[in-house]
Amino acid sequence: PLTVSIPIIYHPIGIMTHDGTNQGFFGTNKTVLDRYMRVEIPDGKCQAMYVWVDGTDENLRSKTRTLNFKPQTPADLPEWNFDGSSTGQAEGSNSDVYLRPIAMYRDPFRLGDNKLVLCETFKHNKKPTESNKRRTCLDVMTRAADTRPWFGMEQEYTLLDTDNHPLGWPKNGFPRPQGPYYCGVGASTVYGRDVVEAHYRACLYAGINISGENAETMPAQWEFQVGPCEGITMGDDLWMARYLLHRVAEDFSVVVTLDPKPVPGNWNGAGMHSNFSTKGMREANGIVEIEKAIEKLSKLHEEHIKAYDPKGGKDNERRLTGHNETSSIHDFSSGVANRGVSIRIPRNVAEEKQGYLEDRRPSSNADPYVVSERLVRTICLNES
Ligand code: ADP
Ligand code: MN
Ligand code: MN
Ligand code: MN
Ligand code: MN
Repeated sequence: PLTVSIPIIYHPIGIMTHDGTNQGFFGTNKTVLDRYMRVEIPDGKCQAMYVWVDGTDENLRSKTRTLNFKPQTPADLPEWNFDGSSTGQAEGSNSDVYLRPIAMYRDPFRLGDNKLVLCETFKHNKKPTESNKRRTCLDVMTRAADTRPWFGMEQEYTLLDTDNHPLGWPKNGFPRPQGPYYCGVGASTVYGRDVVEAHYRACLYAGINISGENAETMPAQWEFQVGPCEGITMGDDLWMARYLLHRVAEDFSVVVTLDPKPVPGNWNGAGMHSNFSTKGMREANGIVEIEKAIEKLSKLHEEHIKAYDPKGGKDNERRLTGHNETSSIHDFSSGVANRGVSIRIPRNVAEEKQGYLEDRRPSSNADPYVVSERLVRTICLNES
């Protein structure tokens, strides 16, 4: 047999290439696809795409089944399973992992009665998998329900070309220094707006509580915001919004990375600023509650850093340098309208003496279930 020896280069963000530049990506003809997407499916049937977080704690997987009815709530959806040995969630000898539907969204790709189904994962013994961070989050949100915790998360991300190079960047060199890109406009200033526009509409259609978007400080870096969401809905909506982002970008043959520092050096990293409030903070003179919360957060800095990326702080080490609008990973700090601190009190909140705080530490690839659970444990439940 013919054997071809091509050296395989693993890119640091995890995409395999043969020569370090070309991944052999291809784009199919979307106009032809559209013809088939308009073919009607039989009455009474629909397609349900089950989506779950895999064993990396940051990547998503999905697969589809036909339903012979139109589900109205997640409770109508059947439990399912998948091969956990292929997703880092089980051994090959005992590989079935259960998918339990927990949230249902309209499907912006297949339209009609078709659904996207966010699932929790359970092992053969019905215990949650290690990557299922929603169980304990839900427990904490239930215990703290009377404080009415609200979250608003700012999801930053970077678009890459299919060769893993930041989208629109010159292939042999760097764009002009940061300055014009944040909230920028114009073909020489922002790269990849088509993906952002399509994703925003897809989220709105799906029923995700997306609240905005903007171009970020580093070229090819963008942000969308989800919230305010109460309790467990924050994690559910953000995970599904991430799924839609990867899926929309796939249609454009663009790659999305949630790496917190995709380009080393004097280029901004990517975070998941987490805005948080309780009922007390939102009421008149709630600033007192906000200051109490900051005092509690100051005592558990290390515990929070551990929860703020999927590698226990290792990913964020590259980002939280004290430069590029971040605070040092080693120190806790807070301030009004200051973007170089751990916790920022937005200017308007300080003026109105009520509102919310912004935790700027979570990494772009943090698990929103873990971050929201950590915030509520510290601030509402006084747990370390
Ligand atoms: P920034 O100025 O840090 O870029 P953004 O406008 O991007 O801020 O994001 C602010 C976020 O704060 C939004 O996602 C919004 O949903 C959220 N937010 C607003 N009010 C509250 C609140 N009371 N509690 C929690 N989150 C809130
Ligand atoms: Mn099979
Ligand atoms: Mn923002
Ligand atoms: Mn931002
Ligand atoms: Mn912010």
